[in-house]
Amino acid sequence: MARLMVAVRIRPLTQRERANDHVTAIVKAHGDQAVSVWDPNDDALEDVLRRERQREKLFWFDGVFDETASQTHVFDHTVRHLIDSVLHGFNATVLAYGATGAGKTYTMLGNETSPGIMVLTLADLFSKITTDNEAGAGNYDVVLSYMEIYNENIRDLLSGKADILELREDAVRGVVVAGITIAPVHSPEEVMTLLRKGNKNRSQEATGANEVSSRSHAVLQVYVTYRTTDPQSGQRMQRFAKLSMIDLAGSERAAETNNRGMRMIEGANINRSLLALGNCINALVDPAKKNKYVNYRDSKLTRLLKASFEPSPTRRDRCVG
Ligand code: ADP
Ligand code: MG
Repeated sequence: MARLMVAVRIRPLTQRERANDHVTAIVKAHGDQAVSVWDPNDDALEDVLRRERQREKLFWFDGVFDETASQTHVFDHTVRHLIDSVLHGFNATVLAYGATGAGKTYTMLGNETSPGIMVLTLADLFSKITTDNEAGAGNYDVVLSYMEIYNENIRDLLSGKADILELREDAVRGVVVAGITIAPVHSPEEVMTLLRKGNKNRSQEATGANEVSSRSHAVLQVYVTYRTTDPQSGQRMQRFAKLSMIDLAGSERAAETNNRGMRMIEGANINRSLLALGNCINALVDPAKKNKYVNYRDSKLTRLLKASFEPSPTRRDRCVG
């Protein structure tokens, strides 16, 4: 499977948007891999007959989901493919990127009737693990943590405490957040309850809930450990993988930064993690830059995700005891 996959989901217009005559949909899906974007501000062409056609630009992706796509459909064609790799000890990361209001939280968290990717992923993971654990060879164990990165401060969303936590290197788990709640989980219902609880802590954080959530990253990390005993040698083995699922800050923050240029990055309201993430991804995907240094140390988010982004497989089977 490709190391990096980009899919676009178009959300339906909200009731409020539909009621507003000044709001028109400008993005349209063309099959399951292309979207056209129509720029209503570009009125260089006055010819009514040709106008729409000329103004449309087509963009291609690994996957495109239109307004009618269900949560399970999006999941089935994206993150579902990662789960086997995670069970086999490879790290993976899922990022929801887009402007505030684009549908990131809906897609990642969802609601009770339409659970999103975080919950669907855990449900699928549990069902595979149950089958495997029953098959006998070894045993899987799943724990998770849920945090917020806001203004480069990391807070535990599960503890209910406002303490700022620090990153630390751990021999087995890579970069971890020191002191964060590690919650054992066994069912999708348990996961939904934890995430809802966590999201409530997120909105209590500061003045306006929307304001904060549009500037902060909600990071769910799922740690999967597989333990088995080699039947011949009796040696106990352990392999470990980390799956990170992230509801990113609104991308308008990054755009703002770009408009003002690199010199202004130190300014107060700029989202350092979002910018650093863009830089790391660009450095990783640009073949001309292949041997260049990827600057993970620039932000909390990129430091946290480093092990999942590195080009070499991060799978590790270790002997224990
Ligand atoms: P973001 O987290 O990117 O700021 P939200 O997920 O909060 O955006 O979505 C904005 C609004 O649109 C919410 O009311 C949400 O319920 C709704 N919405 C988003 N995506 C969809 C979708 N695919 N289908 C139905 N409603 C959606
Ligand atoms: Mg949101």
